[in-house]
Amino acid sequence: MDIQRPRGTADLLPGTVEAWQVLERIVRETLATANYQEIRTPVFEYTELFERGVGDTTDIVNKEMYTFEDRGGRSVTLRPEGTAGVVRAFVENKLYGQGTISKLYYIEPMFRYEKPQKGRFRQFHQYGVEVLGSEAPAIDAEVIQLNLSVLQNLGLKQLTVELNSVGCAVCRPRHKEQMIALLSPRRDELCKECQERLEKNPLRMFDCKNEHCHTILREVGAPYISDALCEECSEHFQAVQGYLTAMSVPFVHKKDLVRGLDYYTRTAWEITSPGFTTIAGGGRYNGLVEQVGGPATPGIGFGGGIERALWVLGEQGGRLTDEHELDAFVAVADESAERPAMVVLSTLRGRGISCDRDYQGRGLKSQFKLADRANAKFVIILGESELASGKATVKDLATGQQDQVVFADVATFVQERLGEAPTAGGQGA
Ligand SMILES: [Zn+2]
Ligand SMILES: [Zn+2]
Repeated sequence: MDIQRPRGTADLLPGTVEAWQVLERIVRETLATANYQEIRTPVFEYTELFERGVGDTTDIVNKEMYTFEDRGGRSVTLRPEGTAGVVRAFVENKLYGQGTISKLYYIEPMFRYEKPQKGRFRQFHQYGVEVLGSEAPAIDAEVIQLNLSVLQNLGLKQLTVELNSVGCAVCRPRHKEQMIALLSPRRDELCKECQERLEKNPLRMFDCKNEHCHTILREVGAPYISDALCEECSEHFQAVQGYLTAMSVPFVHKKDLVRGLDYYTRTAWEITSPGFTTIAGGGRYNGLVEQVGGPATPGIGFGGGIERALWVLGEQGGRLTDEHELDAFVAVADESAERPAMVVLSTLRGRGISCDRDYQGRGLKSQFKLADRANAKFVIILGESELASGKATVKDLATGQQDQVVFADVATFVQERLGEAPTAGGQGA
């Protein structure tokens, strides 16, 4: 019987995983420039968190969650998105009591039961940030710019921020009433989902995939939420746009952008590139902390899929590379060199110098091939004459230069030579 990996999952093998490591490093470095700190929350949470925190009208909660009963009879769910868990942790650990705002980021696997297709997995991975404790429009601008910077630093091209404001607890209910009044007479013509949305969250009708629903929206003159904002939301939105312009962040106001989640208030955005749908996106969620049981605390965040970013990067002809490299390879001639070889390896590793050897009894020539394949910089040869003289041969594979070095000095010698060598990235001294 062959056991295969579950549908919609992937194995990241050596050769592929390096791009992920580079991506994760770029995400961390980019976010560190703005003083964001990492948070890690559980892979599973009580189901109720996502019902309350993601919203029970969303596709995620209705159709896509990996929910099961644990052995204690509690309903738990594998995290389908990042925000709810971070907000729960913020409340539970009383981070709001620290007298400052929380600027957090995560890089984590998420789980959704969706039809697997190109670039869409059931276990997928997201990077994201959440800022809790400020509703200043300047923080919206910071978060949007960071979202864009992460993608730019990964090498993605032709990026645009599509921006909208989806209003607040004051203007949204007014907009909802207008929508219900305009659309109720034609309720029967709407798709089944929009009939439901009309009662629960009519704003999301602008997100419908059914063309006919959009025709009806146009015909009845359904107002865009950004044309129906209260004064405060309107001022906030103006301010966000003003900052983005000043910061040279390329954006367009997209009036029908609503995002798929119920919790967004005011600023919402998606980042796109010609030929691709959303690459990342985010929004403000001023009511979410209360909804999850905490004190009223404004929040804003973004999330982006790692698989998606790497796929778009590949389509655009880009690539994240991080050649696997080894500082040294220790080659042994025969069994009598085993023990000194282990001493040399252990001494090198103790100084942080990466090194490896053959463990399958290969001949010297074949060991050199292994060293080549591992991109080793030096080969340290422990052969017959070396054992007799007590001096190892240290060969620099780039220059071919060979030196005889007393066993006890090998680590220091290699360390010094590594210090002199220009770094592979070409950015060295
Ligand atoms: Zn408002
Ligand atoms: Zn519809």
